[in-house]
Order: sequence, then structure tokens, then C-alpha cells
Amino acid sequence: MNPPDFHKMRIFQKLGRVDAKSLESCDQLLLILPSKPDASHFRQLPQGSKLQRVMRKSVSDSTPAFTSRLSNKKQTQIVAGALSKNASAFEQLTLGRQLVAAASPEKAGSLGICVIGFDSTEQAKICNNILAAALASAFELPSFKSKNSPPGIKSVRLIGVDERVDTARTEAEAHGNNLARWLTTMPPNKMDAVSYADLIRNLAQARGWTYKRFGTKELLKLSAGAFLAVAQGNNNDSASIIRIRYRPGRTNARADLGLVGKGIIFDTGGTNLKSFESMLDMHGDMQGSAVALGILLTISELKLPIAVDCWLALTENRTGPNAYKSQDVVTAANGKTIQTIHTDAEGRMALADTLVLASRDKPGILFDYATLTGTCVSAITTRYSGVFTNRPELHPRLKRTGQNCGERVWPFPIGEEFMEALKSETADFMQCSPKGAGDHILAASFLSEFIENDTPWVHMDLSASDNDGGLGHVGSRFTGFGVRYTMSVILDENLFKAN
Ligand SMILES: [Zn+2]
Repeated sequence: MNPPDFHKMRIFQKLGRVDAKSLESCDQLLLILPSKPDASHFRQLPQGSKLQRVMRKSVSDSTPAFTSRLSNKKQTQIVAGALSKNASAFEQLTLGRQLVAAASPEKAGSLGICVIGFDSTEQAKICNNILAAALASAFELPSFKSKNSPPGIKSVRLIGVDERVDTARTEAEAHGNNLARWLTTMPPNKMDAVSYADLIRNLAQARGWTYKRFGTKELLKLSAGAFLAVAQGNNNDSASIIRIRYRPGRTNARADLGLVGKGIIFDTGGTNLKSFESMLDMHGDMQGSAVALGILLTISELKLPIAVDCWLALTENRTGPNAYKSQDVVTAANGKTIQTIHTDAEGRMALADTLVLASRDKPGILFDYATLTGTCVSAITTRYSGVFTNRPELHPRLKRTGQNCGERVWPFPIGEEFMEALKSETADFMQCSPKGAGDHILAASFLSEFIENDTPWVHMDLSASDNDGGLGHVGSRFTGFGVRYTMSVILDENLFKAN
């Protein structure tokens, strides 16, 4: 199986004054104005006084603020939005998503973006955030309809920018996010653990990453009993842990960054079977792995000078005569024993061994991504994701990153005191508590038992992976949350520079 086609969106820029000719080239124009635009702002636009009249008649505080058409050959459709001067990144991204959605029922073709009334730095930032929404919307998610969907956005034009806007990062992040959403949307019968591994190998080959697949045999040798407990319910030998390596410099360099992703292709809940509603969208339970892969793709496209190892735990969680069950005791790759309580808590089992393998290689820092617990959603809804770390001093930076980039997170505590709730009679600890309160904290505390060498580690419970109607700049319910966030940790928080 092959990864999706990442054809590059054509992005044009027109510097200086907005003229009639550059608007003539747009089928639609997203016009972003300050929240209380005045005549001076409209004077910067051809047919500006007409637009100002339309705005006066429109309902205030609505999104779009107004829509109109220019009297030119293309009858360019104007979709305008208002942004306050201190709007957060999340608010800018959300406006982008809403404006793109309002514009898209029309034949999309060439989409213009014009930001007026902000200083150059702010203008560039807003342009990039609206562009992020356009790139998310333009990307085609897997569809198996017999009729083709109407053509979407073909090109983007940034019109009237003061200076050339650097869009390289936004484009690379869009590719990473799009890949994550594409993989997550894939129906589980079209992409099983074997074809997923296959796709990753093809992607690795095309991008010059090294690829290694640890199948059941290798995992048995590594005594990865926690991962294998989940995999034993499969009716074939499809499960594996995949390692891909990106090395911009020396090929034998230690990883600066380790990425780990939960890749449960379909989660039935196992022997403790899920109900219809909870099982319905469980093809999305591999989103953590897709996000890790999306981050690696973004880093690689930006040719960042950091060495990265990416570990993906791929398996189904099925019922059947061989499936694991409550009270099974298994031994993980680090020798710790686990009393199984609930087979639907398979994510932490699959991750446990994967984290052991990833942290054994002593990466500078390790991040993992998993659609892990319902209690994380109960705690912070599907608008935020939870973060947990064995370096609590990172909490302020982790939280700040979310505010700065628009993929927002909330830190939770972990640690030994929470392991009290996982005390076991038959093994070193229980997999989860039969009681279930604070399961996101217990799950993260459980995972911390599998971090070797005291590796600095951040766990992201992806409660924001699936939000009805989309989130931020992304319009689809599967959000690919975590790609943009992690790039911001690396690039804005300067993770790899002393601080
Ligand atoms: Zn589960």
C-alpha cells in the first residue's frame, strides 16, 4: 500500500498594495480584518467602499463577518472575517477553518487570502494560520465513493502582504497532519497491520529513513510479553513494532528525539468487549502512531538537524479463543510483571514494551502519543489533550506551547503515589484499576514504569484526536492533533537548545 499523494499546493504571493488585477485571479477571497475595521482599512481594497457598506448591513460578531461579490470577470466571492488584535493562535486557526468552510461550497479553484490592518509580523502569522486551514481543507481524505467529489482548492494566493511570508513550516506541518488524518480515516479492512507496515516501509524508502520491523518472533526474543498479550488475539501474525530512523547527520548517531505511537488498527475491547457506540469509531485507535509518523514526516521535510527514532506499536485488539483475558499475568520486556484487569486497556500494554525498546536506546527525550483513556476526555473534553511527564518542571513549557501554537494541552500529575491504586496480589502491579477513577493519570503512571535510563519523557493522551466538526484549523473530526504541537515544542520552545 502507498501513502497518499502529497502534491504540493501552489502558493503565490503578491506583495504591496492590493490591486484589482490580483483579485481578478481569485475565485474566492478570504478577507481578514481587525474586529472594528474603519474606512482606512477598506480604502486599501478595490471596491472597498462597497464592501464597507455590505459590512455595515451585516449582523455584527457573526462568522463570516460578511460575504459579497466583486464586480469583476470572475465575480470573486468575498468571505470576510474579523480578528481582534490579541486573538490567540487557536482563535486564528478556528477563524481560518470557518472561513474556508464558508467559501468551499462554491467551486474552489484559486483561493486568495488577504490580511489587512495588522503589522507585518502579525500579518505573516495570520496568513500562515489561515493558510494552515486552507491546506487542511484542500487535502482529500480517503473516500471510496463511486462518484468523484467536486474539485477543491487548487492554488492559494497571499495578496497584499507587506513582506514575503515564509510558508515552508506551515506546508510541512500540513503534510504531517494530513498524513495522520489520512491514515486514521482509512477503513480498517482497507488498512490492516500488515498493509500499514507496508505503507510505512514504502514511505521510509521514499524519504531515506531506515526501517525495521519487529515481528512476533523478534518480539518473543525480546520478551515483549505485554505487547504480545494484546497481539495474541489476532487471527494472523500481523502485529509488529516498527522502528524508523531519520538521521540527517551521522547514521550511527544516538536519537535526539524518540517518538512512540499507539497503533491499534481496530479496538474491539478484546474479551471485555466494547458496546456498539464505544466500538463504532475504533479504527481511529491507531491515531497515535499516525501522529508520530506525521511528526517524523514534518521534521524530515524541514530537514531539521535532529536525529529521530520513531517507534510504532501496530496490532489489532480482538476477541477470540486466543485473546488475552482478565487475571492473565504477563511479563514485559523490562522484566516487570503485569496483572491484566481489563482487556480494553490494551493501549498501555502495547505501549509498555514499545517504551522499553525506545528508551533503551537513550534518546535525548521521548514523546509518546496515544488515544488512551476515556477519563482524559471526561477531564478536559475533546478540545484539549492531556500531557504527562517524568520531568514535572516541563509543565509550564508544555502548556505554553499549546497556547502559542493553537493545539492546546493540559498537564496532569503522575508518579509513585498513584501506583498505590495499581497494587497487585499476583504481579508487580495491575494494568489498570478496576475502579477507573483518574484512569488517565493511572495509565500514565503505569507507562512511566517502562521508561528505562530515566529518559526524559512526555506522554500525550490524545483526547483531542476526535472532535465533532473539527478543531482549530482542521475541519475533519479526526484532527491529527499533536503534529503541530510537537513541531512547536521543537521550533518555538527550542527543545533542543539549552534554556
Ligand atoms: Zn481499548
